[in-house]
Amino acid sequence: MTIAGKTAIVTGSTSGIGLGIAGALAGAGAHVVLNSFTDTAEDHALAAAMARRHAVSVRYIRADMSKGDDCRALVEQAGACDILVNNAGIQHVAPIPEFPVAKWDAILAINLTSAFHTTAMALPMMRRSGWGRIVNIASAHGLTASPFKSAYVAAKHGLVGLTKVTALETAGEGITCNAICPGYVLTPLVEAQIPEQMKVHNMDRETVLREVILDRQPSRQFATTEQLGGTVTFLCSEHAAQITGTTISVDGGWTAL
Ligand code: NAD
Repeated sequence: MTIAGKTAIVTGSTSGIGLGIAGALAGAGAHVVLNSFTDTAEDHALAAAMARRHAVSVRYIRADMSKGDDCRALVEQAGACDILVNNAGIQHVAPIPEFPVAKWDAILAINLTSAFHTTAMALPMMRRSGWGRIVNIASAHGLTASPFKSAYVAAKHGLVGLTKVTALETAGEGITCNAICPGYVLTPLVEAQIPEQMKVHNMDRETVLREVILDRQPSRQFATTEQLGGTVTFLCSEHAAQITGTTISVDGGWTAL
């Protein structure tokens, strides 16, 4: 089985890591469903450009991954799902006593519960064809913790747990489920944290990147969206058919510390 001709749904894929993964899968010949919660001309133009570049079908489907019904409708509307990449995610940083309840709920819904809904819808489709790949984009924060990221760390640890259960429920059926745990990747999600860190530490941007953001990452280098796309493509290949229920860290040595 090759990736070419398969249908891949990548949640939260109009920017950053999701866009990189979608591009890598399209480059390997998969038909791709791009997703976010908006429905703009740019969203559809992104899909059209990716389709032209890789000569595959690329559709944009709007679905708010904080809503269970939207998550389920996304897979239903796609009509097929051989490869499911649960990537949508948001971040908020605050100490527990001040952590806004609405932010906690949104992070748990988007970063964890959405993957339960999409997986529930995708598994019957994968079982019918006897082949499937589920890749959950967790984080180094799915394996370790940092202060002030309670909801994110809890959701990502939960996503690693869901990954293991999904793998056990599908073992031997031609379906695998794994989690990728990236360290820092310079995407809009990380960009958004930089101004606050510059203020808190009274540092310029370059110093914050090196001394604060990449402090936990021994390589002191960001992982790239291309590297994550390549890791997903590998997990979707036949070489990875017996890799299931595990995590792959792409974190410059963070979790080796
Ligand atoms: P990003 O902000 O660049 O992209 C997030 C994507 O999710 C966007 O396309 C956004 O539109 C979409 N999204 C947000 N809320 C949504 C919703 N309610 N419904 C549907 N789509 C929604 O972020 P990123 O850095 O590319 O992160 C992607 C994933 O990788 C996240 O799960 C994140 O936790 C994880 N991750 C990121 C890093 C990093 O350093 N950037 C590290 C580890 C893990």
